[in-house]
Amino acid sequence: MTVAQELAARIKAKGLISLADYMATANAHYYGTRDPLGAEGDFITAPEISQMFGELIGLWFADLWMRMGKPDVHYVELGPGRGTLAKDALRAMALVGCRPSVHLVETSLALRLRQAENLSDPVWHQDFGSVPKDAPLFVMANEFFDALPIHQLVKSEGVWRQRAVGCKKGVFAPMLGNPVPLEIIPETLRDAEEGAVIETGPLGVRIMQTIATRLAEQGGAGLIIDYGYLGPATGDSFQAVKAHAYASPWEEPGERDLTAHVDFGTLGAMAHTQGLKVLGPMGQGPFLARLGLAERANALAEMRPDKAEALFSERDRLASVDAMGRLFKVLGLVHTDWPEPDGF
Ligand code: SAH
Repeated sequence: MTVAQELAARIKAKGLISLADYMATANAHYYGTRDPLGAEGDFITAPEISQMFGELIGLWFADLWMRMGKPDVHYVELGPGRGTLAKDALRAMALVGCRPSVHLVETSLALRLRQAENLSDPVWHQDFGSVPKDAPLFVMANEFFDALPIHQLVKSEGVWRQRAVGCKKGVFAPMLGNPVPLEIIPETLRDAEEGAVIETGPLGVRIMQTIATRLAEQGGAGLIIDYGYLGPATGDSFQAVKAHAYASPWEEPGERDLTAHVDFGTLGAMAHTQGLKVLGPMGQGPFLARLGLAERANALAEMRPDKAEALFSERDRLASVDAMGRLFKVLGLVHTDWPEPDGF
Protein backbone atom coordinates (compact mmCIF):
# COMPACT_ATOMS: atom_id res chain seq x y z
CA MET A 1 0.00 0.00 0.00
CA THR A 2 1.38 3.44 -0.89
CA VAL A 3 1.31 6.30 1.61
CA ALA A 4 -1.44 7.94 -0.48
CA GLN A 5 -3.57 4.78 -0.21
CA GLU A 6 -2.87 4.49 3.51
CA LEU A 7 -3.88 8.13 4.13
CA ALA A 8 -6.97 7.80 1.92
CA ALA A 9 -8.07 4.73 3.92
CA ARG A 10 -7.51 6.58 7.22
CA ILE A 11 -9.58 9.52 6.00
CA LYS A 12 -12.33 7.18 4.82
CA ALA A 13 -12.48 5.60 8.28
CA LYS A 14 -12.32 8.88 10.24
CA GLY A 15 -13.92 11.45 7.96
CA LEU A 16 -11.04 13.92 8.10
CA ILE A 17 -7.51 13.74 9.53
CA SER A 18 -5.40 16.54 10.98
CA LEU A 19 -2.79 18.30 8.90
CA ALA A 20 -0.16 17.16 11.43
CA ASP A 21 -1.21 13.53 10.92
CA TYR A 22 -0.96 13.93 7.12
CA MET A 23 2.44 15.63 7.34
CA ALA A 24 3.93 13.21 9.89
CA THR A 25 2.85 10.11 7.94
CA ALA A 26 4.08 11.49 4.61
CA ASN A 27 7.47 12.64 5.96
CA ALA A 28 8.15 9.43 7.91
CA HIS A 29 7.91 7.55 4.61
CA TYR A 30 9.71 10.24 2.62
CA TYR A 31 12.79 10.43 4.87
CA GLY A 32 12.72 6.76 5.80
CA THR A 33 13.09 5.55 2.23
CA ARG A 34 15.66 7.83 0.58
CA ASP A 35 18.53 10.29 0.77
CA PRO A 36 16.72 13.43 -0.45
CA LEU A 37 19.79 15.69 -0.50
CA GLY A 38 22.01 16.81 -3.36
CA ALA A 39 21.77 17.46 -7.08
CA GLU A 40 19.96 14.18 -7.90
CA GLY A 41 17.69 14.53 -4.87
CA ASP A 42 15.00 17.06 -4.01
CA PHE A 43 16.79 19.82 -2.10
CA ILE A 44 20.18 21.06 -0.92
CA THR A 45 21.14 22.38 2.51
CA ALA A 46 23.86 24.71 3.79
CA PRO A 47 26.32 21.96 4.85
CA GLU A 48 25.93 20.35 1.41
CA ILE A 49 26.65 23.69 -0.27
CA SER A 50 29.94 24.31 1.51
CA GLN A 51 32.29 22.78 4.07
CA MET A 52 32.74 26.32 5.44
CA PHE A 53 29.28 26.14 7.07
CA GLY A 54 30.07 23.15 9.30
CA GLU A 55 33.59 24.37 10.01
CA LEU A 56 32.42 27.75 11.29
CA ILE A 57 29.80 26.05 13.46
CA GLY A 58 32.43 23.69 14.83
CA LEU A 59 34.62 26.67 15.72
CA TRP A 60 31.63 28.35 17.44
CA PHE A 61 31.32 25.33 19.76
CA ALA A 62 35.11 24.94 20.14
CA ASP A 63 35.47 28.57 21.21
CA LEU A 64 32.91 28.09 24.01
CA TRP A 65 34.57 24.82 25.00
CA MET A 66 38.00 26.43 25.39
CA ARG A 67 36.67 29.39 27.34
CA MET A 68 34.76 26.99 29.59
CA GLY A 69 38.00 25.15 30.49
CA LYS A 70 37.76 22.20 28.06
CA PRO A 71 35.16 20.00 29.80
CA ASP A 72 34.09 16.56 28.52
CA VAL A 73 31.10 17.13 26.21
CA HIS A 74 28.71 15.21 23.96
CA TYR A 75 27.95 16.51 20.46
CA VAL A 76 24.28 15.86 19.66
CA GLU A 77 22.78 16.55 16.25
CA LEU A 78 19.09 16.26 15.39
CA GLY A 79 18.21 15.28 11.80
CA PRO A 80 21.84 15.17 10.61
CA GLY A 81 21.02 14.28 6.96
CA ARG A 82 24.17 12.84 5.40
CA GLY A 83 26.27 13.72 8.46
CA THR A 84 28.18 16.36 6.49
CA LEU A 85 27.71 19.19 8.99
CA ALA A 86 28.81 16.93 11.86
CA LYS A 87 31.85 15.76 9.90
CA ASP A 88 32.97 19.32 9.07
CA ALA A 89 32.20 20.67 12.55
CA LEU A 90 33.99 17.81 14.35
CA ARG A 91 37.05 18.23 12.13
CA ALA A 92 37.23 21.94 13.00
CA MET A 93 36.71 21.19 16.71
CA ALA A 94 39.49 18.58 16.70
CA LEU A 95 41.95 21.26 15.52
CA VAL A 96 41.86 22.71 19.03
CA GLY A 97 41.65 19.34 20.77
CA CYS A 98 37.87 19.21 21.25
CA ARG A 99 36.79 15.60 20.57
CA PRO A 100 33.28 15.03 21.90
CA SER A 101 31.42 11.74 21.66
CA VAL A 102 28.88 11.90 18.83
CA HIS A 103 25.12 11.32 19.20
CA LEU A 104 22.72 11.48 16.27
CA VAL A 105 18.95 11.79 16.69
CA GLU A 106 17.71 10.26 13.44
CA THR A 107 14.62 8.21 12.62
CA SER A 108 15.50 7.44 8.99
CA LEU A 109 17.35 4.18 8.37
CA ALA A 110 18.29 5.32 4.87
CA LEU A 111 20.00 8.42 6.28
CA ARG A 112 21.60 6.53 9.20
CA LEU A 113 23.45 4.53 6.52
CA ARG A 114 24.76 7.74 4.92
CA GLN A 115 25.77 9.10 8.34
CA ALA A 116 27.70 5.90 9.05
CA GLU A 117 29.79 6.53 5.91
CA ASN A 118 30.77 10.01 7.08
CA LEU A 119 31.30 9.62 10.83
CA SER A 120 33.23 7.18 12.99
CA ASP A 121 31.45 5.60 15.95
CA PRO A 122 28.35 7.74 16.28
CA VAL A 123 25.58 6.59 18.62
CA TRP A 124 22.10 6.82 17.10
CA HIS A 125 18.96 7.76 18.98
CA GLN A 126 15.34 7.46 17.95
CA ASP A 127 14.60 10.59 19.98
CA PHE A 128 16.45 13.06 22.18
CA GLY A 129 15.38 11.39 25.45
CA SER A 130 18.08 8.69 25.34
CA VAL A 131 20.99 11.13 24.87
CA PRO A 132 23.42 10.67 27.83
CA LYS A 133 22.98 12.77 30.95
CA ASP A 134 26.53 12.66 32.33
CA ALA A 135 28.18 15.67 30.62
CA PRO A 136 27.39 19.04 29.02
CA LEU A 137 25.86 18.93 25.53
CA PHE A 138 26.60 20.69 22.26
CA VAL A 139 23.26 20.49 20.44
CA MET A 140 22.95 21.17 16.71
CA ALA A 141 19.88 21.16 14.46
CA ASN A 142 20.00 22.43 10.87
CA GLU A 143 16.82 22.19 8.79
CA PHE A 144 15.35 19.73 11.30
CA PHE A 145 12.45 21.64 12.87
CA ASP A 146 10.93 22.57 9.48
CA ALA A 147 10.31 18.89 8.75
CA LEU A 148 8.24 18.32 11.91
CA PRO A 149 4.43 18.17 11.66
CA ILE A 150 2.37 21.33 12.15
CA HIS A 151 -1.27 22.19 12.75
CA GLN A 152 -2.98 25.07 10.98
CA LEU A 153 -5.90 27.13 12.28
CA VAL A 154 -7.95 29.04 9.73
CA LYS A 155 -10.34 31.95 10.31
CA SER A 156 -13.55 31.21 8.44
CA GLU A 157 -16.70 33.34 8.73
CA GLY A 158 -15.29 34.89 11.88
CA VAL A 159 -14.60 31.53 13.57
CA TRP A 160 -11.18 29.90 14.05
CA ARG A 161 -11.17 26.27 12.91
CA GLN A 162 -8.64 23.46 12.59
CA ARG A 163 -7.48 22.88 9.05
CA ALA A 164 -8.05 19.21 8.32
CA VAL A 165 -7.26 17.02 5.33
CA GLY A 166 -9.89 15.29 3.25
CA CYS A 167 -9.76 13.08 0.19
CA LYS A 168 -12.17 12.85 -2.73
CA LYS A 169 -11.61 10.23 -5.42
CA GLY A 170 -7.97 9.89 -4.41
CA VAL A 171 -7.31 13.66 -4.44
CA PHE A 172 -6.23 15.22 -1.15
CA ALA A 173 -7.31 18.72 -0.18
CA PRO A 174 -7.37 21.00 2.86
CA MET A 175 -10.83 21.23 4.49
CA LEU A 176 -12.36 23.11 7.37
CA GLY A 177 -12.28 21.04 10.54
CA ASN A 178 -13.67 21.59 14.03
CA PRO A 179 -13.85 25.07 15.55
CA VAL A 180 -11.28 25.83 18.29
CA PRO A 181 -11.86 27.94 21.43
CA LEU A 182 -10.88 31.58 20.94
CA GLU A 183 -8.70 31.40 24.08
CA ILE A 184 -6.08 29.27 22.31
CA ILE A 185 -5.54 31.97 19.64
CA PRO A 186 -2.75 34.41 20.62
CA GLU A 187 -4.44 37.67 21.65
CA THR A 188 -2.63 39.76 19.05
CA LEU A 189 -3.97 37.56 16.25
CA ARG A 190 -7.62 37.15 17.25
CA ASP A 191 -8.76 40.02 15.02
CA ALA A 192 -6.92 38.74 11.95
CA GLU A 193 -8.72 39.04 8.61
CA GLU A 194 -11.00 36.39 7.11
CA GLY A 195 -8.97 33.46 5.72
CA ALA A 196 -5.96 34.14 7.96
CA VAL A 197 -3.90 31.06 8.93
CA ILE A 198 -1.99 30.43 12.16
CA GLU A 199 0.50 27.57 12.40
CA THR A 200 1.53 25.68 15.52
CA GLY A 201 4.15 22.96 15.83
CA PRO A 202 3.48 21.10 19.09
CA LEU A 203 6.02 18.35 18.37
CA GLY A 204 8.75 20.90 17.67
CA VAL A 205 7.92 22.80 20.85
CA ARG A 206 8.03 19.54 22.86
CA ILE A 207 11.43 18.62 21.40
CA MET A 208 12.70 22.12 22.17
CA GLN A 209 11.49 21.73 25.75
CA THR A 210 13.47 18.48 26.09
CA ILE A 211 16.62 20.03 24.60
CA ALA A 212 16.34 23.12 26.81
CA THR A 213 15.67 21.13 29.98
CA ARG A 214 18.73 18.98 29.34
CA LEU A 215 20.96 21.96 28.56
CA ALA A 216 19.77 23.64 31.76
CA GLU A 217 20.50 20.46 33.80
CA GLN A 218 23.76 19.41 32.14
CA GLY A 219 25.27 22.64 30.78
CA GLY A 220 26.39 23.32 27.26
CA ALA A 221 25.07 25.19 24.25
CA GLY A 222 23.00 24.74 21.11
CA LEU A 223 22.36 26.18 17.67
CA ILE A 224 19.04 25.86 15.87
CA ILE A 225 19.21 26.94 12.21
CA ASP A 226 16.25 26.94 9.86
CA TYR A 227 14.03 29.09 7.69
CA GLY A 228 11.47 30.80 9.82
CA TYR A 229 9.91 33.82 11.46
CA LEU A 230 9.41 35.43 14.82
CA GLY A 231 5.90 34.35 15.88
CA PRO A 232 3.17 34.58 16.88
CA ALA A 233 2.21 35.60 13.35
CA THR A 234 -0.25 34.62 10.64
CA GLY A 235 0.70 32.99 7.35
CA ASP A 236 0.44 29.70 5.48
CA SER A 237 3.95 28.26 4.97
CA PHE A 238 3.03 24.60 4.42
CA GLN A 239 4.93 23.59 1.29
CA ALA A 240 6.37 20.74 -0.71
CA VAL A 241 9.60 20.49 -2.65
CA LYS A 242 10.47 17.92 -5.28
CA ALA A 243 13.49 17.90 -7.60
CA HIS A 244 14.56 21.37 -6.43
CA ALA A 245 11.22 23.03 -7.25
CA TYR A 246 8.13 23.92 -5.25
CA ALA A 247 5.33 21.41 -5.75
CA SER A 248 1.83 20.89 -4.40
CA PRO A 249 1.86 19.46 -0.85
CA TRP A 250 -1.46 17.71 -1.61
CA GLU A 251 -0.16 15.39 -4.32
CA GLU A 252 2.03 12.29 -3.88
CA PRO A 253 2.28 12.39 -0.06
CA GLY A 254 5.42 10.51 1.01
CA GLU A 255 7.24 11.30 -2.24
CA ARG A 256 7.79 15.04 -1.66
CA ASP A 257 9.51 16.91 1.15
CA LEU A 258 6.79 18.55 3.28
CA THR A 259 7.90 21.47 5.44
CA ALA A 260 6.71 24.59 7.24
CA HIS A 261 8.55 27.70 8.37
CA VAL A 262 9.77 27.53 11.96
CA ASP A 263 8.34 29.83 14.62
CA PHE A 264 11.50 31.00 16.37
CA GLY A 265 9.48 33.21 18.70
CA THR A 266 7.76 30.21 20.29
CA LEU A 267 10.91 28.01 20.32
CA GLY A 268 13.00 30.79 21.89
CA ALA A 269 10.33 31.49 24.53
CA MET A 270 10.23 27.79 25.44
CA ALA A 271 14.04 27.67 25.87
CA HIS A 272 13.90 30.84 27.95
CA THR A 273 11.26 29.34 30.27
CA GLN A 274 13.63 26.46 31.00
CA GLY A 275 16.20 28.99 32.26
CA LEU A 276 18.58 29.18 29.29
CA LYS A 277 20.18 32.25 27.82
CA VAL A 278 18.57 32.65 24.38
CA LEU A 279 20.37 34.52 21.60
CA GLY A 280 18.76 35.68 18.36
CA PRO A 281 17.16 34.63 16.18
CA MET A 282 19.41 36.44 13.78
CA GLY A 283 19.94 36.06 10.05
CA GLN A 284 22.30 33.30 8.95
CA GLY A 285 24.17 35.86 6.81
CA PRO A 286 25.22 38.21 9.63
CA PHE A 287 25.81 35.26 11.97
CA LEU A 288 28.27 33.59 9.57
CA ALA A 289 29.85 36.96 8.78
CA ARG A 290 30.63 37.48 12.48
CA LEU A 291 32.15 34.01 12.67
CA GLY A 292 34.51 34.93 9.81
CA LEU A 293 32.91 33.46 6.66
CA ALA A 294 34.51 36.03 4.33
CA GLU A 295 37.95 35.55 5.89
CA ARG A 296 37.64 31.76 5.69
CA ALA A 297 36.61 31.94 2.01
CA ASN A 298 39.56 34.26 1.26
CA ALA A 299 42.02 31.98 3.06
CA LEU A 300 40.78 28.89 1.23
CA ALA A 301 40.83 30.77 -2.09
CA GLU A 302 44.43 31.81 -1.51
CA MET A 303 45.41 28.16 -0.98
CA ARG A 304 43.42 27.03 -4.02
CA PRO A 305 43.20 29.88 -6.57
CA ASP A 306 41.61 27.44 -9.05
CA LYS A 307 38.68 27.04 -6.61
CA ALA A 308 38.34 30.75 -5.75
CA GLU A 309 35.29 31.39 -7.90
CA ALA A 310 33.43 28.34 -6.52
CA LEU A 311 34.31 29.31 -2.93
CA PHE A 312 33.04 32.87 -3.34
CA SER A 313 29.83 31.59 -4.87
CA GLU A 314 29.34 29.19 -1.91
CA ARG A 315 29.99 32.08 0.48
CA ASP A 316 27.31 34.14 -1.26
CA ARG A 317 24.75 31.32 -1.29
CA LEU A 318 25.17 30.86 2.46
CA ALA A 319 25.11 34.52 3.42
CA SER A 320 23.56 36.90 0.89
CA VAL A 321 20.11 38.32 1.61
CA ASP A 322 18.60 37.00 -1.63
CA ALA A 323 19.92 33.47 -0.95
CA MET A 324 20.04 31.91 2.56
CA GLY A 325 21.33 34.93 4.48
CA ARG A 326 18.05 36.42 5.70
CA LEU A 327 15.27 33.83 5.50
CA PHE A 328 17.47 31.35 7.37
CA LYS A 329 17.84 32.23 11.01
CA VAL A 330 20.05 31.15 13.89
CA LEU A 331 18.82 30.69 17.45
CA GLY A 332 21.50 30.28 20.11
CA LEU A 333 20.95 28.49 23.45
CA VAL A 334 23.50 28.69 26.24
CA HIS A 335 23.53 27.59 29.88
CA THR A 336 23.68 30.68 32.10
CA ASP A 337 27.00 29.55 33.67
CA TRP A 338 28.63 29.30 30.25
CA PRO A 339 30.46 32.19 28.52
CA GLU A 340 28.78 34.64 26.14
CA PRO A 341 29.01 33.01 22.69
CA ASP A 342 30.42 34.58 19.55
CA GLY A 343 28.27 35.47 16.54
CA PHE A 344 25.19 37.16 18.02
N1 SAH B 1 20.49 18.60 8.81
C1 SAH B 1 20.68 18.01 7.50
C2 SAH B 1 19.43 17.32 6.91
C3 SAH B 1 18.14 18.11 6.89
S1 SAH B 1 16.81 17.12 6.27
C4 SAH B 1 21.25 19.03 6.55
O1 SAH B 1 21.28 20.20 6.91
O2 SAH B 1 21.68 18.65 5.47
C5 SAH B 1 15.90 16.69 7.74
C6 SAH B 1 16.55 15.66 8.62
O3 SAH B 1 15.70 15.42 9.75
C7 SAH B 1 16.76 14.29 8.00
O4 SAH B 1 17.95 13.73 8.50
C8 SAH B 1 15.53 13.51 8.47
O5 SAH B 1 15.67 12.12 8.38
C9 SAH B 1 15.40 14.03 9.88
N2 SAH B 1 14.08 13.90 10.51
C10 SAH B 1 12.90 14.29 9.99
N3 SAH B 1 11.90 14.08 10.87
C11 SAH B 1 12.47 13.56 11.98
C12 SAH B 1 11.98 13.14 13.26
N4 SAH B 1 10.69 13.21 13.56
N5 SAH B 1 12.88 12.67 14.17
C13 SAH B 1 14.20 12.60 13.87
N6 SAH B 1 14.72 12.98 12.68
C14 SAH B 1 13.87 13.45 11.76
